[in-house]
Amino acid sequence: MVIKMNVLAIGAHPDDLEIACYGTLSKYVKAGHKVFVCHVSNGNLGHVEIMPDELSVIRFNEAQKAAEIIGAEHCSLDIDDQYVDSNNEEQVEKLVRLLRRVQPDFIITHSDRDYHRDHTETYRLVFRATCCASLTHYDSESGQSIAPICPLYMMDTLANTGFEPTENVDITDSIDLKLKALSCHESQIKWMKEHDKIDFVDFVKNCSRVRGYQCGVDYAEGFRPDMNYGRRTAKRLLP
Ligand SMILES: [Zn+2]
Repeated sequence: MVIKMNVLAIGAHPDDLEIACYGTLSKYVKAGHKVFVCHVSNGNLGHVEIMPDELSVIRFNEAQKAAEIIGAEHCSLDIDDQYVDSNNEEQVEKLVRLLRRVQPDFIITHSDRDYHRDHTETYRLVFRATCCASLTHYDSESGQSIAPICPLYMMDTLANTGFEPTENVDITDSIDLKLKALSCHESQIKWMKEHDKIDFVDFVKNCSRVRGYQCGVDYAEGFRPDMNYGRRTAKRLLP
């Protein structure tokens, strides 16, 4: 019997999860697990022409569409771009409320050595909030504590740089859905084409292809478990 899990994925910006783990997340949904996706920052500074207030709404809606494509429940912590901060108590409390609502069996988030400060601070925020959420007397009015502290999986970095996966997920059967979800981020794709001269969907497809070559399948996503005490598990949680 397959035990159904609550899988929570937490990315810094509205397209980070689509890039690094949406192939894997869509496999969980197909297998009947409940998948929640959260972006910590509203991504309000990621454009030259569109002003921050307007952009945060556009980017939320793009992420909502992407989540609907794979059948995940989506939310945002609505923190401004570049201001994700694991030492900010308000941000920790926001995440604790989400953790207590979702009661995740495990969490996928960024690596602690990713390229962007919002990404590494998201890792630290998740690390800290999972501990806080397991303490009954921490912000006790925000819901039932989670227990025990969640296992964490770190997802790949942008362009697979400086990240050596120890576990791979074959996403050959979900690469099309992953790219379809990523394509919902029209504002970012257009901006990256004009600003960075990058075809972002092609970029992400090729990164998944490289991870596939490394483990003998067509397309893959790579992960590393967080090996700190309390985070380890004897179970294979990835699909
Ligand atoms: Zn990002």
